[in-house]
Amino acid sequence: MTILLQGVNVSRGIAIGHAHLLQNDQIDVREYSIHSSHIDEEIQRLNDAIGDARQQLRAIRDHIPSSTSADIAAFIDTHLLMMEDIAITEEPKRIIKERLCNAEWALKLQRDAVVNVFEEMADAYLSTRRDDVNHVVNRILRVMLNQKPLAHEMPDDSLNGRIILAEDLTPADTVMMQHNGILAFATEFGGPTSHTAILARSLGIPAIVGIQNARKYIKNDDLIIIDGTNGIVLIDPDECIQSHYEKRQREDRRYINSLGRLKNTTTKTSDGISINLMANIELPSDFDTVRDVGASGVGLYRTEFLYMNREALPDEEEHFNTYMDVMKSLDGLPLTIRTLDLGADKQVDGITKNIGQQRTNPALGLRAVRLCLREPGLFRPQLRAIIRASAYGPIRIMIPMLTNLQEIQQVMTIIEEIQLELEKKEIGFDKDIQIGGMVEVPASAVCADIFAKKLDFLSIGTNDLIQYTMAIDRVNDEVNYLYDPFHPSVLRLIHMTINAGKKAKIPVAMCGEMAGDPNSTRLLLGLGLREFSVHSASLLEIKKIIIDSDVEEATRLAKRALKANNGVDVIELFRNSSD
Ligand code: PEP
Ligand code: MG
Repeated sequence: MTILLQGVNVSRGIAIGHAHLLQNDQIDVREYSIHSSHIDEEIQRLNDAIGDARQQLRAIRDHIPSSTSADIAAFIDTHLLMMEDIAITEEPKRIIKERLCNAEWALKLQRDAVVNVFEEMADAYLSTRRDDVNHVVNRILRVMLNQKPLAHEMPDDSLNGRIILAEDLTPADTVMMQHNGILAFATEFGGPTSHTAILARSLGIPAIVGIQNARKYIKNDDLIIIDGTNGIVLIDPDECIQSHYEKRQREDRRYINSLGRLKNTTTKTSDGISINLMANIELPSDFDTVRDVGASGVGLYRTEFLYMNREALPDEEEHFNTYMDVMKSLDGLPLTIRTLDLGADKQVDGITKNIGQQRTNPALGLRAVRLCLREPGLFRPQLRAIIRASAYGPIRIMIPMLTNLQEIQQVMTIIEEIQLELEKKEIGFDKDIQIGGMVEVPASAVCADIFAKKLDFLSIGTNDLIQYTMAIDRVNDEVNYLYDPFHPSVLRLIHMTINAGKKAKIPVAMCGEMAGDPNSTRLLLGLGLREFSVHSASLLEIKKIIIDSDVEEATRLAKRALKANNGVDVIELFRNSSD
């Protein structure tokens, strides 16, 4: 009998193969007391283990195939850096001395403390760092406990053509999987914004995360099908199902291969409407991909990366140099820089200690522009660098999480002050630099007409807009099921925002994940969206759908979607019309 399990689709495509269950990364750590005369010995054990764990990671990094996405090397570098962090190298030593306990136990206690802090975070991206802490500490613990590195970290031909099923995966796991010719993977944990998800997309292999209890139903060597497009795992498929998926797999491959030729095609709908298709970037490894896929520019540059895994805040020069690097890669294409969007979680990296306090609802707390306005020391160097860089290429400033007009006014005042300072010092900048805002909370969507009068452009951040509209924490597994981009309330807010932009004659883009979801493209065109900003990996697929879409027809359907009873009806409406 075929069994179907549903998870979260994070990387498209279909894989058919035999399952390989990865061993649990559970490590049994016991506490024992040590005599004070053995403290130095215990500290030495910790130092040695960290050194060996770093060696292991470096060896993996050195063997990354040249075809591998640079994202993966970046993630391994992040783990290497974490192994230098005092939270890992020094804090356990303090615990050893204070508790007179063994090094493993001290490291475990420290890991639990750090993981707790991460779990409280509002920001989806940062909260997934909890997984990184676990992966890094477990590697060190395995060395201390004389456990072998995990089997799949070794080149192993037997994994060729297998589908990996695991509780969770580390970036190093994913690299080794590429060596080992793995077809796809599925994990029990992780969400759409987890590293595992990001890496799967970079590797271009089908992947599903968050399939709870998958290993209860799937045994080693079971024949399974991973439908990464729909987030479905089929266990023990019968012949009929198998041949259906084989056909879909062939069609899928043909389709992906055919997308490459669209790189230089203009993005126009079948009825001749021009669409601006931009890319979202974050890591330095993303910079070059923008031109590679023929994007018209960058609609969202997430700058949080500049603040991660470090002790000191980046200064104005570092910001400036980074923006100059991005512009060099873009070679004249427009760049939209989103100002810092950290949450109430900022003390974690040790760079913004003592700013704000941990509150019960961090997602509703001091984050993004709220934090920036409260902490000019954080905000001004970034703004100054952006404004200076604007002398060298087309740059726009984008403000995240706007809630009211006063925030816009305050940001404008700071920008004007900086411009005056620069003028006095005869430092060049673009006097007409465009300033836009993200529509990410229902308040700003409902009042988009008011905001539109003060801003040069708007960009809809659906990841947050959906979280706040549905009143669900986007990183909370228990309420993930309510995260519904097609809910009529979300569609109405998007529609209101687009209309407000039209009325004020300013462009409205969308840069949240919804813009890169092929199931949403026609709906968004029908709602009036004419600017999309999506991850480079999805750009050509979205372009293809746009080129094949008829806006008149999409508009007619979108009108009905706005009156639909629920999100399922909206999906059906568009699915039926494409048959
Ligand atoms: C969004 O909220 O849709 C968005 C693009 O911002 P982030 O995902 O970085 O919060
Ligand atoms: Mg956001």
